[in-house]
Amino acid sequence: MSEQPGKVDAKLGANVFKLDQEPHIVIDTETCRTVCTRRVCLQVCPADLYETNDQGDMTVNWEGCLECGTCLICCDEKALRWEYPRGGFGVQYRMS
Ligand code: SF4
Repeated sequence: MSEQPGKVDAKLGANVFKLDQEPHIVIDTETCRTVCTRRVCLQVCPADLYETNDQGDMTVNWEGCLECGTCLICCDEKALRWEYPRGGFGVQYRMS
């Protein structure tokens, strides 16, 4: 039996992403590694885009960003450089 996506997953799945060549979110890895103790970004991103790599450093899969800005607001250590994608790039919300 195949698993049906939930309503939120189905709505998010209808979005379209037009990717720019440069990321619009850049993590200051040194600050993240040496100063941050809470790693709130792992919990707050509604698209679950933050994770740690094999070295324990934070990474973000910016390609799926919903542009909500939550991670930027929640990063107490100001370890993110966050800008909206250039015009014409980023998420396009679709009704489903
Ligand atoms: Fe996730 Fe929102 Fe930050 Fe994008 S802006 S990475 S969707 S928390």
